[in-house]
Amino acid sequence: MRDSDADIAIDVLNKLIDQELKAASAGMRDGNRILEECASTRYHAYTFARDEIRKALADAVEERDARNPFQCQRDELVTQDMHTCDLCGRWCPSPVYRVCLCYADQSRVASDVCADCMWRLGFRPVGTVPLEAYRRYERWVSEHPTGRRG
Ligand SMILES: [Zn+2]
Repeated sequence: MRDSDADIAIDVLNKLIDQELKAASAGMRDGNRILEECASTRYHAYTFARDEIRKALADAVEERDARNPFQCQRDELVTQDMHTCDLCGRWCPSPVYRVCLCYADQSRVASDVCADCMWRLGFRPVGTVPLEAYRRYERWVSEHPTGRRG
């Protein structure tokens, strides 16, 4: 079930819950025990269903985040500052990542990329580069001093 489908289901259940609650109190007020009991049974059933959907949604989010190594890990300390993800444009908390995206001869540095985008794009926390490529990189760095390294 997608989030929006679940929202619709929760919305409908909330309306039914309201309706049954009103019916139950009307039954109580009018001394109509059958109406009161039926409405109250349905009220509890709808409430249970809504809470189960909410629980399943929370579990799904937790499971997704647990699989994503770019999300903050348990007990990991990160700053609480907020960023705008350069890729999806969403407002997201730390940690964010700096990546270089390359396509053919074009490349672009995205300096704030959220954990969700890192995961969606299939980045891995550890990458291996060929030694030759690393030596070329080192040479390039020494030929292009930025003054920031140090
Ligand atoms: Zn993003």
